[in-house]
Amino acid sequence: MTKAMYPGSFDPITVGHMDIIERASKLFDEVVVAIMINPKKTVSFTQLERKEFIEKSCKHLKNVKVVIGHGLTIQLAQELDINILIRGIRAVVDYEYELQQATSNMMLAPNIETVFLVSKPEYSFLSSSISKEIATYGGDISKFIPDAIHNEVIEKLKKK
Ligand code: ADP
Repeated sequence: MTKAMYPGSFDPITVGHMDIIERASKLFDEVVVAIMINPKKTVSFTQLERKEFIEKSCKHLKNVKVVIGHGLTIQLAQELDINILIRGIRAVVDYEYELQQATSNMMLAPNIETVFLVSKPEYSFLSSSISKEIATYGGDISKFIPDAIHNEVIEKLKKK
């Protein structure tokens, strides 16, 4: 059985993330979405809130699991006996950061491979942070956030 892990902040999950998860779920027997802590980012939702958002959005995908992560991504992958990491590339700006992460992971854990899935053009501009920014000013983010969680995300953001 081929297992892959999709690590990220998912603060919150967007339809761009969903597209990567759906495509990965066809490529691998099991996809574990891991909610990690990125020290470079200030988050709006707790890891548990983010987990619930992803679970509600991925209900139709029977081979997708969601876990709350801690520490280094490669350590979590090793703990879960996974040696494939999935990451998404939206545009050239993502490339340098992703390359640095993938290369440092390769140095630390040579048996773990990072597989990149290229974003669909219609999602290549989309990020959790742009969605939150638009929502903060009352803009419509219904095209950016999965239907299953859209209203909840907006309500929770109002209270933050
Ligand atoms: P991180 O803090 O680890 O970068 P993110 O939630 O921002 O977490 O992103 C997780 C992964 O998903 C990254 O590889 C990122 O490039 C990718 N990603 C984010 N948004 C999109 C999108 N719209 N289309 C494709 N990939 C995306």
